[in-house]
Amino acid sequence: MQYQSFLIKYAEIGTKGKNRYMFEDALIKQIRYALRDVDGEFTVTKESGRIYVKAEGEYDYDDTIEALKRVFGIADICPMVQIEDKDFENVKKQVVSYVEQVYPDRHLTFKVVSRRGDKQYPISSEQMNRDLGEAVLMAFPEMKVDVHDPDVLLRVEVRQKVNIFSLIIPGPGGMPVGTNGRAMLLLSGGIDSPVAGYMIAKRGVKIDAVYFHAPPYTSDRAKQKVVDLANLVARYAGPMDLHVVNFTDIQLYIYDKCPHEELTIIMRRYMMRIAQTIAERTGSIGLITGESIGQVASQTLQSLAATNEVCTMPVFRPVIGFDKQEIVDVSEKIGTYETSIQPYEDCCTIFVAKHPVTKPNIHVIRSSERHLEEKIDEMVKTALETTEVIHCEG
Ligand code: ATP
Ligand code: MG
Repeated sequence: MQYQSFLIKYAEIGTKGKNRYMFEDALIKQIRYALRDVDGEFTVTKESGRIYVKAEGEYDYDDTIEALKRVFGIADICPMVQIEDKDFENVKKQVVSYVEQVYPDRHLTFKVVSRRGDKQYPISSEQMNRDLGEAVLMAFPEMKVDVHDPDVLLRVEVRQKVNIFSLIIPGPGGMPVGTNGRAMLLLSGGIDSPVAGYMIAKRGVKIDAVYFHAPPYTSDRAKQKVVDLANLVARYAGPMDLHVVNFTDIQLYIYDKCPHEELTIIMRRYMMRIAQTIAERTGSIGLITGESIGQVASQTLQSLAATNEVCTMPVFRPVIGFDKQEIVDVSEKIGTYETSIQPYEDCCTIFVAKHPVTKPNIHVIRSSERHLEEKIDEMVKTALETTEVIHCEG
């Protein structure tokens, strides 16, 4: 059975009142983007509050479904048969042929649910349910009607054309990217930050990313891993710019001037400051991290407060209350896990102290940072000037 059309159902956008068209248009744009690399030609249209994807000629069904399953804002994907000849005898014939092709094993219960969007249509939905049900029973006596809990809910909608569908493939939910502003993801090579980026993008936020690289302490391979992760996240979140900041000098300077047990906190504060500056310059209005309370010393409540103190932008931490396993589950689902666990060092781990502070005192941290006064502004400026931007298309 080759379906030529898909009905795209969306959930939350439906509640947006008079801005609804904006959400629908954003969804259409994201669907077109997702299908750009799929074999086949597609038209995506909106007809009276419904979005349809139509394949023109031959296309790759599995790839199409895979691509649509990555478009935030889609609640359900319904492969359907769409017919233009609305004559009821023809509709009956097509419904029977649909059942024949989609359900080769016909030991099933079913129910027909008809809807008449076209109020001029001469047959009521009640009548259609009865007549279509009867036609199916006549053609396939082994099938049975069950109006309460049918195996197959056969939907027939009469609109400008007639839509016949029964399969429902769940989409990812959320809202279309581009409908909720822009934010900057601090993307490391770990498990958590790609998941954090995915979760915020799912709410309709367009994201870019920043990675702090410390060559030669962190290798080219470690950097490539982050590029790979950005591309994996971009499969859902759309194209993004990955800003690669050379962090080596700043890190060595902090190592040289500050107590080692405070190194991670101070380093994280500089990461946030730099990320915020890049965000401001590129139109983002929030930061995103993969922090989760208590996971490591730098993520106790006190450490998070100390890191957060340098930010004026809101910092979104979508996995803050997740256990590690819950984060791993999402990363497996979205396909970043295998890449995240590749064993390449990251810049947070190369200079770690044996006993990092777990309850940093903000006044102590600030006074330690004063030891950096001589050169740090210049170093931050250089880091910003030498930042490399890599465009990741997914
Ligand atoms: P992840 O799994 O995301 O690496 P983590 O558990 O290793 O997180 P940390 O290393 O403490 O935790 O980092 C906390 C957060 O800080 C990360 O989720 C990420 O958002 C950000 N971060 C850490 N290191 C870097 C880096 N080198 N470049 C960009 N962001 C970073
Ligand atoms: Mg990490």
